[in-house]
Amino acid sequence: MRKKLVAGNWKMHFTPPAARKFAEEMKTKLCTPDVDAVLCVPYVSLQSVMDALAGSLVKVGAQNMHYMDEGAYTGEISGEMLASMGVPYVIIGHSERRERFGETDTTVNLKTLKALQHKITPIVCVGESQRQRREKRTAAVLRKQITFALDEVRPSEMAKIVIAYEPIWAIGTGEAATLEQAEEACEMIREHIMDNMGEKAAQTVRILYGGSVTPENASALFAMPNIDGGLVGGASVKPSFEQVVRYGK
Ligand code: PEP
Repeated sequence: MRKKLVAGNWKMHFTPPAARKFAEEMKTKLCTPDVDAVLCVPYVSLQSVMDALAGSLVKVGAQNMHYMDEGAYTGEISGEMLASMGVPYVIIGHSERRERFGETDTTVNLKTLKALQHKITPIVCVGESQRQRREKRTAAVLRKQITFALDEVRPSEMAKIVIAYEPIWAIGTGEAATLEQAEEACEMIREHIMDNMGEKAAQTVRILYGGSVTPENASALFAMPNIDGGLVGGASVKPSFEQVVRYGK
């Protein structure tokens, strides 16, 4: 039985004081023993949000990390730095980073392995573009992204990994995937993991859906058999994120 997980991706929103205030207001509301709730916040707000969430079941996450521990990488933050702060989650390979910041399948893999090494749970994002879906290449694209991302990951580590299926055409567009599209893709990802890593790995890995999740559609999406929760952008910086998290139950 996989526990549901709902992660908010704040993207580049909230100054550190505003982040602290929002986290303080939300922390009891998001606390439910049935769902792991995570707030993935900008680096500069990690500490203030962690302070605000102290003693709560709600966890914090970063939105990216570098795959090296240290070095001449101006502007970057390493997994070692996140681990030393006690950050338990990190988003890896979000499509915005793949499209706008040169993230590749190779860097996604290096970051995933590094996050695991530092005992940070990577939320690894995969998803097809509108064009790839139109050309019926969704399955091939997802298989390739998953194969690369999980290269050298051991089957026993899959319980510590979260995959987020995020069709690019659904992110920030208000056009969520249908229940059938989301379930079909998440099932396909699970089957691919089963074929390559075995039944136990496939049954333990949590697979989220992301893309225009709202309080209106969350309940039905999260009830699908292969969808273990959501990665939520726009709806996670609003007080109604409470409903989205609670629908994970
Ligand atoms: C995201 O940023 O991962 C995302 C899914 O955004 P939104 O919920 O706004 O579509």
